[in-house]
Amino acid sequence: MPDAPLGHGKVGRMEFLLALRQRGISDPAVLRAMDEVPRESFVDFPVRPQAYADQALPIACGQTISQPYIVAYMTEQLRVKPQHRVLEVGTGSGYQAAVLSRLVREVVSIERFRTLADVARKRLTALGYDNVEVLVGDGMQGWPERAPFDRIIVTAAAEEIPQALTEQLADGGVMLLPLGPQAGTQHIVRVTKSGETLQEERLIAVRFVPLLPGTAREL
Ligand code: SAH
Repeated sequence: MPDAPLGHGKVGRMEFLLALRQRGISDPAVLRAMDEVPRESFVDFPVRPQAYADQALPIACGQTISQPYIVAYMTEQLRVKPQHRVLEVGTGSGYQAAVLSRLVREVVSIERFRTLADVARKRLTALGYDNVEVLVGDGMQGWPERAPFDRIIVTAAAEEIPQALTEQLADGGVMLLPLGPQAGTQHIVRVTKSGETLQEERLIAVRFVPLLPGTAREL
């Protein structure tokens, strides 16, 4: 499908939803959330015309807002319920957090770049997504004071599963993360916790920016 010329128009958004369905997203609640959240509000002016094309786009600090299909896919595979508290690692633009906020009770999102976190927080507030809290920190450490989380979603690629995150997952909880070497193939992995046991399932191949330790030093 060509990039929608009417990026923020009605046609662009209808094609956007159709493309998600055609690629296999079927959960009506997820499709509704993808329909409700205006992706154009999460990208900068120069790339707005591409906001409803199914592609990742650049955001500040050399990071990216994920491809809509991947956002919808991960949201669907996270198997959220309305009463859930969700931790997101890698706020970026705040788009994934906004989509999740339509489906769960509370989202706590951690970003290592203060600039990105500040912009995302203001944006989410302005759009009325008031059940999202954006924190600055190293998401690889999770946020122990707020644990346990029913669901954890990591939106940057890890080389191995961060132990702090599995520890902060509730019993019966599910974590989704892109896993694999930065230069090679990464896969979305679903980790399900029951008691002390962690079950891992490998889902689709993906390409994400790296999950990096510590908070970012900015100029
Ligand atoms: N979910 C985002 C996509 C973010 S791209 C969106 O919807 O727009 C991945 C983000 O993860 C980047 O902003 C990057 O700075 C952040 N990141 C990488 N490592 C991190 C870490 N250890 N803790 C918190 N954020 C991290």
